[in-house]
Amino acid sequence: MLYELRCPVCRQADAFSDVERFQQWTIRVCQTCGLQFADPLGTTETYYEETRRKSPSLSSLGRLGPDQFRHSARRWAARSRRPEVAIRWLREHVPPGAIVLDVGCGAGLFLPLIEQAGFVPIGIEISETLVNFLRAKEFRVHLGSVEDYPAQWPQPQAIMVMEVIEHVPDPVGFLRAIRQRFPTVPLLLSTPSPRSWAARLGVRPAVDWPPNHLLRWSEQSLRIALQSAGYNSIELSFGPVLSQEIVPTFSSWLMFRRVLGVVPTARELSSDERSGVRWIYSLLFRFYPTAVWLQERFLPSVLSVVTVPMARLLSAKGLSCLSVDVIAR
Ligand SMILES: [Zn+2]
Repeated sequence: MLYELRCPVCRQADAFSDVERFQQWTIRVCQTCGLQFADPLGTTETYYEETRRKSPSLSSLGRLGPDQFRHSARRWAARSRRPEVAIRWLREHVPPGAIVLDVGCGAGLFLPLIEQAGFVPIGIEISETLVNFLRAKEFRVHLGSVEDYPAQWPQPQAIMVMEVIEHVPDPVGFLRAIRQRFPTVPLLLSTPSPRSWAARLGVRPAVDWPPNHLLRWSEQSLRIALQSAGYNSIELSFGPVLSQEIVPTFSSWLMFRRVLGVVPTARELSSDERSGVRWIYSLLFRFYPTAVWLQERFLPSVLSVVTVPMARLLSAKGLSCLSVDVIAR
């Protein structure tokens, strides 16, 4: 072996086993902390910039004005229910009007929800494309990292890191930078759940492979990472399976992973060699708003006959929703 294999969280270098292979990566599991990680652990510097610039979903959101974008984020929230836990926590623990920092805000769907809940959102994002996109929607976003967050910008009273740490090759360094820069500010974090119904049934969301997700967290590895970063109090919460997660997760896994064999945000989608895949993807996003509208109007009542009892059954078996929510201080 040309390099020493070491767990990026607990740092042990002895005991690993292989979970699966995908393209040039092997996904390994650390026998000490249970973290699954891509080997080699990393992607190109330009991966996010390239995929975001060519993303059909981003170009359709890009056409929306600031108010329409806020409306679309609220519809997403109502559909996914994923942000509920974070927003409820903010309302209960953070004074109205406080600054809430969204680290790795991505396309910024949380920013309108933080704003609507009565707080002042500020995003941090490394992709220039996304920062320009969000600034056009009239949000305040810092282009860069926590380390170079401008000293003259307002200090946050809460920090959110939503669905970010599964993308980061050095998660302990990333979390430690947040803790060192804002040592007394509570952190709300979410990441794909190790207890999720999808993970347990082997129906992983189609984005859950490298180069998009580099890490799949276990409960123990989450605690070790946050403790190593300097957090003392760590609470994990696992919500029940949500009926609205079942159809989108299952159909995206079936189409992208099983039929096409790709990760939907992978660079392959935007390259010429895979233009067939890109065409299907673009087509899906062209009709996405219509599909969402149809789903909201008609499908819930039809599908819920199946998905609601299925969600109850899976929850009764001890499985949980797609994301785990963590509060660390
Ligand atoms: Zn480990």
